[in-house]
Amino acid sequence: MLKINRQQKRKKKITIIVVLLLLICTGTAITLLCKANNKKQAVKTFKPKHSNTSRMNNRESIIPRSTSENQSGGQYTPWTAKRTDGTKIAYLTFDDGPSVNTEKILKILNQNSIKASFFLIGKNAENYSNLVREEFADGEVVGNHTYSHQLNYKEGPSIFVNDINKCEEVLKSILGQNYNLKLVRFPGGSFGPKLVPFRDAVTKSGYRFIDWNDEIGDADGYNLPVTTLLNNLKKYTTQNTVVILMHDAGAKTTTVQALPQIIQYLKSKGYGFDTLQ
Ligand SMILES: [Zn+2]
Repeated sequence: MLKINRQQKRKKKITIIVVLLLLICTGTAITLLCKANNKKQAVKTFKPKHSNTSRMNNRESIIPRSTSENQSGGQYTPWTAKRTDGTKIAYLTFDDGPSVNTEKILKILNQNSIKASFFLIGKNAENYSNLVREEFADGEVVGNHTYSHQLNYKEGPSIFVNDINKCEEVLKSILGQNYNLKLVRFPGGSFGPKLVPFRDAVTKSGYRFIDWNDEIGDADGYNLPVTTLLNNLKKYTTQNTVVILMHDAGAKTTTVQALPQIIQYLKSKGYGFDTLQ
């Protein structure tokens, strides 16, 4: 009788241990499954920091600037559109030149009797002064894109303005002292609250600045296929007044290739063309 009792007790003990072990195993399995699932979700929701979508969402409208911005610093009187009567106008703009591609772009523009606006990097202008003169002689608008094209804005606003002044001096030395457009495009655009002091300083120094509300996405990589550039244009050309960001830097060969089709597409959608003033 005593023996049977002992055996029963042992059986009970074993059963309890087995049940406990099972519970521990199940718990661990559930925890591991949850962790794996969280990881999956994290991958799903991750978006690259500089994706096209996020850049477009951060984009400010060119006209007018928001009230909150006006309250946060100095008086901003940036560029405004010449026409606000609902006419469809496309402003083609080319940044980062001049380069070997500029001549080809000028040829395409002339073939189509279209003028564009170029925002020149001062040190490139020094290297291609003949192209700066050619742009100006053709009636293109020659704007200022700073001398050294610093994108990180780590230096203060006064150093930034110095860089703009330096570019203007280069343009004056090439085009003559009467050159006085005072139209700037910030490297990477003037978007976001971080650049308020910079926008302030630029305005106080007598310059106007202009961003964009349309683009072909040629800043996203080298030699992007023409079809990609055209698809971006179709996607972002949504307003009556479009200021289109493009680049005439030396590496942007497919922008040159895409340009005739870009012009064709805009014409087919009823856009006329003009230069920034
Ligand atoms: Zn640039």
